[in-house]
Amino acid sequence: MGLNFSIISSGSSGNCSILWNEKTAILIDCGCSAKYLCRQLKNLNVNTKKLYSVITHAHIDHISLSGINFLQKNQIPVYINKNIFQDIFKKYEQKIKNCLCINYDKNFKIDNIVVNSFDAYHKDNNISRTCGFTFFSKVKKRSYKIGYVTDTGKICNNIIKTLANSNILVIESNYNKQLLENSFRPYENKQWILSDFGHLSNEDTAKAIIEIKRLSTVKDNLKYVFLAHISKHHNTYELAKNTVNKILLNNKITGINLLVAKRESKSPTIRID
Ligand SMILES: [Zn+2]
Repeated sequence: MGLNFSIISSGSSGNCSILWNEKTAILIDCGCSAKYLCRQLKNLNVNTKKLYSVITHAHIDHISLSGINFLQKNQIPVYINKNIFQDIFKKYEQKIKNCLCINYDKNFKIDNIVVNSFDAYHKDNNISRTCGFTFFSKVKKRSYKIGYVTDTGKICNNIIKTLANSNILVIESNYNKQLLENSFRPYENKQWILSDFGHLSNEDTAKAIIEIKRLSTVKDNLKYVFLAHISKHHNTYELAKNTVNKILLNNKITGINLLVAKRESKSPTIRID
């Protein structure tokens, strides 16, 4: 078995992805219900005994009470940055155990997968910090990279550099500007979404993909891009995909399989073997 990746759910109703190989499996966020997650893990044939988890930030759609209960019940080790642990602790108090503290921009290993976390731009009154991740795993002596950033108000040069040379990239494509401006949300909430600490628009995402591709030293390394965390109210799956696709083509970026991560169903599994 090589390296496998699937997005179990993506969006404001719950975020959870999984990558796994023959030895280990890592859940990225645990914001969906335990019942749904158990069903999907069974479908994917992933044993909870070999599971680890990492958490991007403390918003409820990334770590829900049901998700925490699942992690505790199955004694799944949780790798988490110190500030993010504090945000989660404030919310759920003693609920979260089996935690292992990690540092930003410092590689660590979960079994035979190398993981790195980096700072993203996403905070509000309830959370102090958010991170993205990169994962490296070897398949037949060749190293493969998965880049992951789902909640960020902007993409800086450091994030571009960190995500360059990914083979699989997960990046949010949260909103369409016009739909957001016309939506029923309170003015303050719209301003936060638009800010450098909110979310990315479809256009922002396309620009980031172009920069990541341009900075990648290995030609055609980037094979799969998942557009994630697509808003139910300020975007549509088609609009996100069409907008990003059009901008990529206008910039002569080809050879990428552009996929849409959905709220209510698991994505296809990408297998590298
Ligand atoms: Zn968030």
